[in-house]
Amino acid sequence: MEFDKQKQRAEELTNLLNKYNYEYYILNNSSVSDQEYDALMEELMNLEQARPDLKSRLSPTSRVGGGVSNGFKKITHSRMMLSLGDVFNKDELYDFNARISKELNQDEVRYMAEVKIDGLAMSLVYRNGELVYGATRGDGNVGEDVTNNLLTIPSIPTHIPDKRDIEVRGEVYMSKPVFEMLNKQREKEGLPLLANCRNAAAGSIRQLDSKIAASRKLSAFWYYLVNGEELGFKYHSDCLDYLKKLGFVTNPERKVVKGLNGIMDYVDEYFQKRPNLDYDIDGLVFKVDNLASQDDLGYTMKTPRWAIAYKFPPTQVVTKLEDIIITVGRTGRVTPNAILSPVRVAGSLISRATLNNEDFIKNLDIRIGDYVYLHKAGDVIPEVCGVDKSRRNKDSVEYQFPDECPICHTKLVKSESEIQARCPNENCPSRNINKLIYFASDYGMDIKGLGDNLIEQLFNEGFLTNFDDFYHLKDHETDIMMLDGVGKKTCEAIFSAIESSKKNTLEMLLAGLGIPLVGKKTAQILAKHYLNLDRLISTSIDELASLQDIGLKTANVIYDYFHNTSNLEIIEKLRQDGVNFNCLTINTNQKDNFFKGKRFVLTGSLASYSRDEITKILENLGAKSSSSVSKQTSLVIVGSEPGSKFNKAQQLGIPIMEEEELIEKLNEINKEEN
Ligand code: NAD
Repeated sequence: MEFDKQKQRAEELTNLLNKYNYEYYILNNSSVSDQEYDALMEELMNLEQARPDLKSRLSPTSRVGGGVSNGFKKITHSRMMLSLGDVFNKDELYDFNARISKELNQDEVRYMAEVKIDGLAMSLVYRNGELVYGATRGDGNVGEDVTNNLLTIPSIPTHIPDKRDIEVRGEVYMSKPVFEMLNKQREKEGLPLLANCRNAAAGSIRQLDSKIAASRKLSAFWYYLVNGEELGFKYHSDCLDYLKKLGFVTNPERKVVKGLNGIMDYVDEYFQKRPNLDYDIDGLVFKVDNLASQDDLGYTMKTPRWAIAYKFPPTQVVTKLEDIIITVGRTGRVTPNAILSPVRVAGSLISRATLNNEDFIKNLDIRIGDYVYLHKAGDVIPEVCGVDKSRRNKDSVEYQFPDECPICHTKLVKSESEIQARCPNENCPSRNINKLIYFASDYGMDIKGLGDNLIEQLFNEGFLTNFDDFYHLKDHETDIMMLDGVGKKTCEAIFSAIESSKKNTLEMLLAGLGIPLVGKKTAQILAKHYLNLDRLISTSIDELASLQDIGLKTANVIYDYFHNTSNLEIIEKLRQDGVNFNCLTINTNQKDNFFKGKRFVLTGSLASYSRDEITKILENLGAKSSSSVSKQTSLVIVGSEPGSKFNKAQQLGIPIMEEEELIEKLNEINKEEN
């Protein structure tokens, strides 16, 4: 099943990428953004890595994009014109440097840092000091002879003061001011506007009529002397200085940098400077500067192994909204989610984003099939922030928010004060699945290996309905092993995680139960105060409400939860299954533990325990309480507003433990002991 799906996807991606390559390199008119293209390419690379049998000889992942159109004479390059490997975040740059450092056995590699100009790669060949031809990259092997068009760029030297065979490569581009000026003119003339500098440059240079190319006022930077080593140079940076001397325009932003720090500083510097450059750059390039080292590192089919392109993380990208799906959370809350064509936003690959609620969709008029803007600021999760209505399909229809639960078909409810609809059905399968997922997640019992999909499968198969069913899954071992993606090993690991979750602290259990309004923090407060689930069950609303950070509303909800028969039934079952109900082991058997044999003194007051409570707990762990600090004291526990005992402990150099550390230690022991 999975096998066919992956194969089909690889074919789909290959077709799409080939289509986009054609549009980009031949028609100079892309129908998708670079980020959408990059995400598809990355998806195909990952697929091929996981399943090498799917990689065809002509896969777009191993070919230099581009091609040659019929109108131009073909030129076979003396050496392949390759692409560049790309990375999208600093971690990947770190990996690049680590690899190079290791392979060259150098702690601090010398790199040439350059800006990555967003234009069209070009090669110029000189013999006897004269330009012979200029060619596009084409498919890397064969390019198009565009000499006539290149000659319209005044800065390109037709003659150079070096008679040796010289091949120079660089980027032809359109500057931002020229692009704006041309578009203003085109607007006046009612002509379609140029989409961006890169497409405009590529489109201009690949015009059969040189007059058109001339009218486009292109520029060029030259960044590579192909036969530098043969010409006697040791460093790439020396080659660039020489090109400048010969009369080529080289980019002034280049810099020799050392090691990872040099790379990162350059990234930070150009992230700031980028908007002020008067040409578009789509990233930065780092190249090993030493030419002999470049040879040692070599090439892949598509890229040099000695260079990397760091693509700037866009903070806003466009991608297609494939679908809107509605999820129903454990509390019944209904959330619309965008299913997106995968796209990279600020370094991470995104294929799903929340659409918050019905009003959010309505206000932005988001429709299935739309191209939407995704925005990511800082560390927050990317969000949909608008729609590109110019790309909207004519037949698109307004999105109709469902009025019933998509899972159990109960009519959704929404009170005046709520912006989010809810499924009110306590037995809605989706709510129940999410309750189970929450119980097992690291918010709750942290049962490792039980992923959301597996829990859903176990629920659908009838093995899991309530929390206590986790502790009986072992009875269905044979059936579970037959489920998709679950083998014997996974099964064993899950059972062992379930078994050890029985020893979890009370606060984990309380958080996992999903009591309304009780998150991790409240669970902690309750566990520390009551120490034991039974004490909590039999508490009063007043006592609950008297606790710090627990208001009357929460107190009522907690009280109600523990007075609901079906909740109590499940809790009883959990007890019978051997799940720990204690915050701390009061009836410890005094096995070896941190506190055993220690003479402790308490000063100040603790937020979580009364003096009696903590003394009793520690004594049960084998510690001895004492009222004054002396050389015999092994530990001083310090609460808020400590007295003179604290100063004395400091003078005598006796170990001091604050409340937070105390709780941590007790929880550790509790886990070991249970
Ligand atoms: P690339 O743009 O990732 O990098 C290689 C190119 O960078 C070189 O060929 C050269 O032209 C250029 N470059 C600029 N400054 C340079 C410098 N200082 N040193 C060395 N090279 C420099 O690779 P590519 O193969 O040309 O293009 C692939 C990229 O093009 C994709 O990642 C995607 O972003 C874009 N693309 C988009 C579409 C689309 O439909 N939107 C389609 C195809 C490709």
